[in-house]
Amino acid sequence: MSPEPPAPPPPDAGPLLGIHHVTAIAGDPQRNVDFYAGVLGLRLVKRTINFDDPGTYHLYYGDAHGNPGTILTFFPWPGAQRGRKGTGQATVTAFAIPPASLDFWAARLRDHGVHVEGPSPRFDEQVLIFADHDGLALELVAREEVQGPGWESAVVPPEHTVRGVHSVTLSLEGYERTATLLTGGLGFRAAGEQGNRFRYATGDGAGTRVDLLCQPEAPRGHVAVGNVHHVAWRVRDDASQARWRQHIDGLGLNVSPVMDRQYFHSIYFREPGGVLFEIATDPPGFAVDEPAETLGSRLMLPPWVEPQRGLLERMLPPLRVPGEGD
Ligand code: ZN
Repeated sequence: MSPEPPAPPPPDAGPLLGIHHVTAIAGDPQRNVDFYAGVLGLRLVKRTINFDDPGTYHLYYGDAHGNPGTILTFFPWPGAQRGRKGTGQATVTAFAIPPASLDFWAARLRDHGVHVEGPSPRFDEQVLIFADHDGLALELVAREEVQGPGWESAVVPPEHTVRGVHSVTLSLEGYERTATLLTGGLGFRAAGEQGNRFRYATGDGAGTRVDLLCQPEAPRGHVAVGNVHHVAWRVRDDASQARWRQHIDGLGLNVSPVMDRQYFHSIYFREPGGVLFEIATDPPGFAVDEPAETLGSRLMLPPWVEPQRGLLERMLPPLRVPGEGD
């Protein structure tokens, strides 16, 4: 007997608007800044601490404003071991670039000593495949309709800037239960199939896709340095999130209480394939505690950690952002 299909999301919850952010584990924080700000040319939009582990950084990268849908964040664990890429994980984070920028990026990455595969075709797009120095798997996907100007820094010419998250790939032992949750319970639609890759989308445009890779032979992943920790989906506000929380609880998934992440509010649950999902609100955003012009330039602490600023500033290594002030 097959189980009941999951209930669809309640209409008054509003849809999941796409990817809000992806969070991964890094090794050394300065190397992380050097790669994501210095090579990929993303803006460091927030340097704060891991709210669940205040002695370590939480670094956020994105476009000029840190718009939801452009954000990749890291918990740097200096000296910690690498994880194991495998099933039950988001194994690839892809960013969108303009099609005319493929050659620029292939050359730029190679000039920085990054091993690049491609461009290779996938569905109707061209993909560059590479990894950062911690082994975190990344892609740049050429898309006709890229959004926004990206971050116009000193390191990447404005026409070639990275334009937000394109999609994430989840590696799964079997994809059906995850697919059923996505299309039944979370409001996604099927958006393509190629070999063992099954694409789903919530809404249109970049940042709305998730690819499920069915890899029954692959080992189970272990999340540590070089792995994605979780994938966050966007909702418009707290009211929508409250309805989503009720709905996900009703699906029998173990959903967390709402957590105040200062720049958004979050709930977490694990999808049936083992990947940790978050649902995060668009507001209040990264300009809530520092001016938009100087995002990411100093250590920001939530009010409840501010009394420990002196101690934390002595503990955390100083960071230098390439292209800023040099
Ligand atoms: Zn998150």
